[in-house]
Formats: sequence, structure tokens, C-alpha cells
Amino acid sequence: LHNTIQELKGNIRVFCRVRPLLTGVQAGMDHIEFPAHDNKALKLAKTEESHTGRSGDTQKSYSFSFDRVFSPVASQRDVFEEISLLVQSALDGYNVCCFAYGQTGSGKTHTMEGGEVEEARGMIPRAVQQVFSTARSLEEQGWQYTFIASIVEIYNETLRDLLYTGKPNKRPDHEIKKSASSEITVTNLTYQKVASEDQVCNLILLANQNRSTARTNMNDHSSRSHSVFQLAIEGENVGRGAKCKSSLCLVDLAGSERVQKSQSQGERFKEMTAINSSLTNLGIVITALANKESFVPYRNSKLTYLLQNCLGGNSKTLMFVNISPEAESFGESLNSLRFASKVNDC
Ligand code: ADP
Ligand code: MG
Repeated sequence: LHNTIQELKGNIRVFCRVRPLLTGVQAGMDHIEFPAHDNKALKLAKTEESHTGRSGDTQKSYSFSFDRVFSPVASQRDVFEEISLLVQSALDGYNVCCFAYGQTGSGKTHTMEGGEVEEARGMIPRAVQQVFSTARSLEEQGWQYTFIASIVEIYNETLRDLLYTGKPNKRPDHEIKKSASSEITVTNLTYQKVASEDQVCNLILLANQNRSTARTNMNDHSSRSHSVFQLAIEGENVGRGAKCKSSLCLVDLAGSERVQKSQSQGERFKEMTAINSSLTNLGIVITALANKESFVPYRNSKLTYLLQNCLGGNSKTLMFVNISPEAESFGESLNSLRFASKVNDC
């Protein structure tokens, strides 16, 4: 029953979230408008000074609409409320994939992971908590579940196991494999059986340590890598002779900012190109799926190959487009909103 409404709406949804200004003073956000009584719309406007001097300034505005728009006042709880049905469907056997897309600093990690205090917790811990508590109540109806978590980072088209606990110099290489039964697995990856939200929280802490210890400039690095949290769910109800299998995937994408000429040299250029092309490919894959095209280019990037089963078939996809409210981010915000609208129009 949870899924009836979703079915009607199709399987791809886009939510836009604009973070608050970080100065604490909520001023100077004149270029973003949230139309009153419409929680699905957002307008970006810019006044351009006239060069001729006579005709006055011209106002350029760009209107967008999404399945939901969250203004800076939306709390983590408000946002989660809107995705909780989607999370729920993971226990009904649907594969669910949720992405955060946006420029570095726009609030992707805040949205997905969030802070430590209760009200700051992001979508991942809230989703995990909901999955476990629903599973506990379904156990009373004879369901038995197993959960397996993995956390992987994709940097420059290379996979890194964020749950690795061995010697740093003995890190194995990873390859994405597709089995005869179309299951996607990663070689040498840690697949950790978990039974409670606390165990998952500990894994997330381990992943964050793993991410920061290996890098000298953590922010720089994390802004250029995709971080993929996956919870594989298997349920069985012996009494009813029923089984289900699904996966809940929550992805903090690399920053979507465009390559700048001054920085586009050597390694940096290679990285930026890899990031932009994997994000572009993600858009292409989502569009191809929505248009029910016969060929979907999953293998063009590690990200889409890894997520292949969570993107096609009976899966449900949600993309957050995160927006920075500062005036200097106008151009990047416009780019992000345009990318997201393409996905939304699918
Ligand atoms: P990203 O992961 O996209 O680079 P972050 O999630 O790290 O961006 O956000 C950048 C900064 O903004 C962080 O200090 C974060 O705590 C803060 N921030 C982001 N979104 C919000 C929000 N909705 N409310 C309060 N602070 C936020
Ligand atoms: Mg981040």
C-alpha cells in the first residue's frame, strides 16, 4: 500500500534543498525566491546592469519546479518525512537509491550524513533507524531479515573500501563484477553483516576515519569523490513462503562544480574530468531509464555500474539537488538546477 502513490508518480523524484547562509544572518539571498503557497517551485533571479546606461537594469529570471523544494528553514526531520515512504519501500522489496547532487559546500554531506546531535542527523542515520524499527515490527508477523552494509568511495574512477581495517599498505584492488544472476558485487570489498542502527553508525564512523586518515587534505578530497552507502536487505517469511531481496543506497556525490581553466592542469584536470563525466553519465543513465530506452550505458562510469541494480528495474530513485544560497554561487546553482530539471522532466 505504501507504494501506490509512488507508482502513480513514476520512479524518479527530484527534491531541491537550499541550505541556510552560514553567517547566521539570513540576509542577502535576494536572488533565490520561494513562491508563496508552492512548495514545489523556486526562482533564481539576477539583475544585470545595463551597459547602454539608458534603458535601465534588466532582470533575468529562471523558474524551476521539482517534486519538492525545501527552503533554508527546513529541518532534517522535515526533509526525512518526505523520503520516509521511499525508505519504507526498501523493506517491501524495492531497490531504493537516493543521491545528493550539488556544488561543494551546498549541503550534500549535511543532508545525507548530517551532524551528531539528534535533530542534525541526516538521511542515512534516519533511514537506517527506520529500516531497523520497521523490520522489528515485521518480525512479529513472521519476517526474518538479514542486513549487510558496505561503504565505498569512488575517486577518479577507482574504488576504495571505506570499511577496510587491514594494513594501509596492503589495501587490495577492487573490481565491479556482475554475476550470472545479474547481481553486482565488488571484489575484496568488506560486506559487513549488521543487526542494529548502532552497528551501522559505528561503520559510518569507521568510514569517516578511513576517509580522513589517508588524505592530507580531506575536504578537497571528499569534494571530489563519490561516497556510496549500501544496505542489502534480505527478508524471509517461512510461514507465508515469501521472500524479498532489495538494496537501499544512499550516495553523497562529488561536487558538481565545473572545471576552471586556471586549475585545469595535470592530475587536477584528470580528476575534474573524471568527476564531471561520471556525473554527466549518471544523468544520461537516469534519463535513458526514464525514457525506457533499450540501451542504458551503465558501464560508462564506475558509479552507475556499481549502482546498476538500484537504478533500473523495479527501483525507486530520488535525487536531492543541493543549492548554496550565496550570490556568488549563482552560476553553479543555475547549472545544478538545470541538471536536476532534466532529471525531473524524465
Ligand atoms: P557539501 O557536502 O555539499 O560539500 P556540506 O554538507 O559539507 O556541503 O555543507 C557545507 C557547510 O554548510 C557545512 O558546514 C554544513 O554543516 C553546513 N550546512 C549545510 N546544509 C545545512 C543546513 N541545511 N543547515 C545548517 N547547516 C548546513
Ligand atoms: Mg561533502
